[in-house]
Amino acid sequence: MAEDCLFCKIIAGEIPSTEVYSDEKFYAFRDINPGAPTHVLVIPRKHIARITEADANDATLLGEMMLRANRIAEAEGVAEPGFRYVMNCNSDGGQSVYHIHLHILGGRALSWPPG
Ligand code: 5GP
Ligand code: ZN
Repeated sequence: MAEDCLFCKIIAGEIPSTEVYSDEKFYAFRDINPGAPTHVLVIPRKHIARITEADANDATLLGEMMLRANRIAEAEGVAEPGFRYVMNCNSDGGQSVYHIHLHILGGRALSWPPG
């Protein structure tokens, strides 16, 4: 757990969240400010501040995160109509919480390109 990391605190239960999925490696919860009818954040329990800090030892974890997100998208009913994965990095990318998280956005037609 990283000091002063909002998502580490959510994992620890110090800050409440609406759980969507949980296992020994991942936690998924609803975004507090949803950008679409379905907006779930999937995070590894391991603190990695930004995706560019992941290393070869994280390859399996990152792959498993995508596969787990696929199952969550199915369970949320957005897999068949379609959805979007987003992972923002650093300030130009719009990252506001420095613990990597995969956004699952769906439930409406999404525009492209993003702003
Ligand atoms: P980022 O901008 O870093 O890609 O995404 C961070 C996301 O975390 C934002 O969509 C924001 O709404 C969400 N968020 C920020 N604080 C909280 C919180 O305390 N609880 C939950 N559930 N989501 C949060
Ligand atoms: Zn963290």
